[in-house]
Amino acid sequence: MSGRIPRAAHARTVAVDPRVERLSVSPPRSRQNSTATISDLLFRLVSAVAVVLLLGAVPIRASEYPVEQPSRPLAEHVILVSLDGLVPEYVTHPGDYGLRLPNIQALKDRGSWAEGVVGQYPSSTYPSHTSIVTGVRPDRHGIFQNTRFDPQGEGEWFFESNAITAPTLWQRAKDAGLVTAGVSWPVTVGSGIALHFPEVHQNPPNRTWLDLARSESTPGLIDAVVEKLGGFGASDNLDPIKRDIFATAVATHIIRQSRPNLLLLHLVQTDYAQHATGRHSARSKRAFSRLDAHIGEIVKACEDAGILDRTAFVITGDHGFYQVHSSFQPNVVLRRAGLLETGPDGTITDWQAIAHRTTIRIRNPYDAELARKVESLFRDLAEGPYQGLLEVIDRKELDRLGADPEALLFLEPANGYTVGGGFDGDSFLVATSRRGNHGYLPTKPEMHTGLVISGAGVLQGLVMPIARQIDIAPTVARLLGFEMKGAEGVPMVGILQTQSPD
Ligand SMILES: [Zn+2]
Repeated sequence: MSGRIPRAAHARTVAVDPRVERLSVSPPRSRQNSTATISDLLFRLVSAVAVVLLLGAVPIRASEYPVEQPSRPLAEHVILVSLDGLVPEYVTHPGDYGLRLPNIQALKDRGSWAEGVVGQYPSSTYPSHTSIVTGVRPDRHGIFQNTRFDPQGEGEWFFESNAITAPTLWQRAKDAGLVTAGVSWPVTVGSGIALHFPEVHQNPPNRTWLDLARSESTPGLIDAVVEKLGGFGASDNLDPIKRDIFATAVATHIIRQSRPNLLLLHLVQTDYAQHATGRHSARSKRAFSRLDAHIGEIVKACEDAGILDRTAFVITGDHGFYQVHSSFQPNVVLRRAGLLETGPDGTITDWQAIAHRTTIRIRNPYDAELARKVESLFRDLAEGPYQGLLEVIDRKELDRLGADPEALLFLEPANGYTVGGGFDGDSFLVATSRRGNHGYLPTKPEMHTGLVISGAGVLQGLVMPIARQIDIAPTVARLLGFEMKGAEGVPMVGILQTQSPD
């Protein structure tokens, strides 16, 4: 039974769980919202100190048995590239889909690879990218979804790195005296990455994207790349193909000019294409071909910079894709149950329970009766008319998965189905124009992403039947000769050139 009661509903009666106590501290909102009173600020300060002390007192989940260590760094440089929505079959056997990805295949031929990578819950872009660079799951790094929860709509994206509550690769690398670079990587605004162009709001109010990018990036970097490209229109970034051309140009510029020890790069058009037209569509394949060409440009830049033989490449993604045709609307169920009220202008005016993407929240997390009522509403649907199309993932399972500690439960649709935020009308299930989606359980094979690790310090020809996304940061750290202390993941030592083969 305890698994059916939200953690917060019994948190007051049991030993303090620091992850619950963390909820009492408001997450940092946008920099502009600073109307707090002195007493508010004092309360937040005291709460934050209490949380830090509590977190320090609780054993981390990292192993107490260290993985064997080499005596020196295995690579001078690591280039970590995320192809958004990389499906593993385009690493393992793209030819079966009529696809040629010669640059990824060349890295694969010289290195090792995974048949699938298990990511995060939800398998969404920002939680996954943050796990790639921290080696911990969302409940530890704090990026539970792409966007902050906002009952009035989509919510603000997690652009700023101060929302991350775990040490990152760029911090650990800097501590080790290495030069870091980041290009279009999510959740890095204000991160202190040395050579930097972060992923920012693509359509910012009151200014152009280029102006925003300029103000958040290393001085001079954006203008140098615009000049190199012969210009970049004020809204060219809204075309994901042009956005990837720009990001690749930034990355190759940084590599040639500065030879950073660690470079993170995020390319996006494969996500857009698969959402619109589905996995394996002609448009999606063209998107992967273009990104493969960008990988070729990156390798060429390393060659030109004279660092190719000392560079390791990690090519991965954040999640896979389901093919979708229909969408569940949990907010319709909550509205019809009287737990969510809407106004005549189509806004939510009050709520006791609400869906934020696949996450169901209740306003008062200590209200066990409300929690049971909401859970049984969705269980009745998942075990009744929608059996086989929908599952309820309860709090106990969410804890095991390292998922959002603020959620009452997650809804988990079957392949073919997604979840929308609509609350009008009477239909729980409606058609959707989307043809692909992600955000589902990372254990579903279709949600796995791909991984190639190749180059300096990496063994050739080894296959990992399964890899974990949380092991990428410890592996990158191991290649560069430092440790991701406190990570939940472990280095993939079996594919690295260790100093002491047994
Ligand atoms: Zn993504």
